[in-house]
Parts: sequence; C-alpha cells; structure tokens
Amino acid sequence: MFGIGIAKGMMVTMRTLFRKPFTIEYPEEIRPIPVNARTNLLWFEERCTGCSTCAQACPDGCILVHTSPREDGSLNIERYEIDFRLCMYCGLCVEACPYEAIQAGGPLDDATYDFDEMYRDKHKLTEMAQEHLRGHDWTYPDGKVAPRPDEKPLHIGLPVERDRTR
Ligand code: SF4
Ligand code: SF4
Repeated sequence: MFGIGIAKGMMVTMRTLFRKPFTIEYPEEIRPIPVNARTNLLWFEERCTGCSTCAQACPDGCILVHTSPREDGSLNIERYEIDFRLCMYCGLCVEACPYEAIQAGGPLDDATYDFDEMYRDKHKLTEMAQEHLRGHDWTYPDGKVAPRPDEKPLHIGLPVERDRTR
C-alpha cells in the first residue's frame, strides 16, 4: 500500500531518535579494549627460541629473524624485526608461534607521520613488550604470568622443543 514504506521508516526514526548515542569521541573517551585485541604485536624475547615459524607463517614477509647457533644447541637471536609498514595484523604469526613469544596486544595509538618508525627492531620491540608488562602487572596478553625484572628469566629449551601449555 502506498506510504507504508515511509511509515515504517518513520517508525524506525522515532524509535532511535531518543536513544543514547553509541558513538564515542575518541581520543577523549576510549572504549574498553581486550588486552589481547589485535591492536598491535608484542614480541617477548624471553619466550622466543628464534625458530622462525612466525616469519614463515607471515603472508606479507614482514618478520625477519636472524639467529646464530649456541654451543648448547639453542639459538642466539641476533635480529628480530617486524615491518609494521607491511603488517596487516592478521595474527597468523601469533597463531603459528609454538612458544607464545609473539602475541596480539599493545598500543593502538602508535600512528606516526614517519613511515620508517613503523619498522621495529628487537630493541624497540622489547621496549614495547616491557612497557606492556609493566602496565599489566607482569602478565602476558594471553593471561600467563611473566617473569618480573628481579626474577630469573624464563628459559625455553632447544628450538625443537614444543611448549604449548594451553
Ligand atoms: S600479523 Fe600477519 S601480516 Fe603482521 S606480522 Fe603477523 S603474520 Fe605478518
Ligand atoms: S615463532 Fe615464536 S619462538 Fe619462533 S621465532 Fe617467532 S616469535 Fe620466536
């Protein structure tokens, strides 16, 4: 019947007219965000064995892992770098890591005008990871407890050993 569509549309308008708005005015107000949301990537050196599984899983090739062998058969991580200029935050590296050494989480407000700042080496990544742990009572984004600075650092064994506890 003629006009029924208009009436339905007006009903929807009237129903929503007096509702509280859902929009918030970021950055003055920030919605609560789960700690392990894909806001960024956090790399925890103390958990990393240098196995490169994350680099192989990354479809964009943005992770670089360079290691050298130690006498005990483990790997010394010479370089661990993530090119966030290419990263699409898909989380495949997080899924692939057998040691939960790379996890989703971290700052969401790190946008920058300097493109090269988005390339982060192991020192910058460690700085980000430490900042996260300090602000979250030394708990990893996945909820596991991290070693505090005055505690013996976590040591993960040989790179072939799997340590999935979930
Ligand atoms: S989130 Fe995706 S694109 Fe980014 S480093 Fe991990 S696998 Fe690569
Ligand atoms: S998969 Fe995990 S343990 Fe292996 S190099 Fe990547 S972050 Fe480190």
